[in-house]
Amino acid sequence: MPVGTNGTVKAITRDDLEAIGFEIILSNTYHLYLRPGMEVISAARGLHSFMSWPQNILTDSGGFQVFSLAPYRKIRDEGVEFRSHLDGSTHRLTPEGVVEIQALLGSDIQMQLDVCTSWGISHKESLEALTITADWLGRAKKTWEEKTGMGYAGKLFAIVQGNFYKDLRTQSAALAIEADTPGIAIGGLSVGEETDVFLEYLAYTAALLPGNKPRYVMGIGTPQYILAAIEQGIDMFDCVLPTRTGRTGRVFTHHGDISIKRADREFDFGPIDPLCACKVCRTYSRAYLRHLFKTQEILCSMLASYHNLYFLHHLVTDARSAIEENRFLSFKKDFLSLYTGGNE
Ligand SMILES: [Zn+2]
Repeated sequence: MPVGTNGTVKAITRDDLEAIGFEIILSNTYHLYLRPGMEVISAARGLHSFMSWPQNILTDSGGFQVFSLAPYRKIRDEGVEFRSHLDGSTHRLTPEGVVEIQALLGSDIQMQLDVCTSWGISHKESLEALTITADWLGRAKKTWEEKTGMGYAGKLFAIVQGNFYKDLRTQSAALAIEADTPGIAIGGLSVGEETDVFLEYLAYTAALLPGNKPRYVMGIGTPQYILAAIEQGIDMFDCVLPTRTGRTGRVFTHHGDISIKRADREFDFGPIDPLCACKVCRTYSRAYLRHLFKTQEILCSMLASYHNLYFLHHLVTDARSAIEENRFLSFKKDFLSLYTGGNE
């Protein structure tokens, strides 16, 4: 899922998203709640119509953004109180309120409010966070069921927390399974831990989840992490990485990601990635993109973001074909051997 924080995937039009083949994007409850605010989005009859995106939208709960506001937030049993990063005004998010906001947005998939934790916290703190998360799940589900009864068709996903403690991951997964939401997300990974720790906890947590529901790992976006997640049976992922790094002049290629800014690109008239069939690679050269970057032309962000999103979309499409043809592991090995062999 490309990330459209403010109700737009940065530097990409809706037509381009559809042309690439995306059927779902992620948007951020916290940002939309603060600006333009729910009054505007309600008057627009929801986010789909406001941003003119007819396909699926997943919204996060806002928890991640609120928790990154420390020390400008307080967690209480009833919810979380925080000060807006825009104007300092005080707001409170409760598990019930977050479900209501996402129902007003018209989210097709909505996430429960959870307590996000970071790498390196104690077992005791992690247990406290997961206890509150589990309590909030029960409350979120109750409100979601009420909304569903009133005609709201979006689905609620529970979030497994538990930080980097296996007993807590097991406990949190059991609570999420018991809640029987339509899908389950794995939170609290890719939060600063080393790759081997990420892989260990990804495999451990994914194995706890039922096979008959979508599994979503939040906030991963590198080809290595995406393929590792697919190998563990993960179905969904999101990250700002393809568009954010695109805006800084970094682009994916089958031989690893490269910087378009480097001096030796000045006379490099080949495509970003000769193995990519996207319209940017078919039309423009590395030298031209470097020039656009150097002159701070908006088009550079647009082209690099388009290529990066296309690259990841095709990676996942190819992975899906490989699974169907029962050759995923060899596909992953071949892709990574080319990709990591060429890193700059
Ligand atoms: Zn391309």
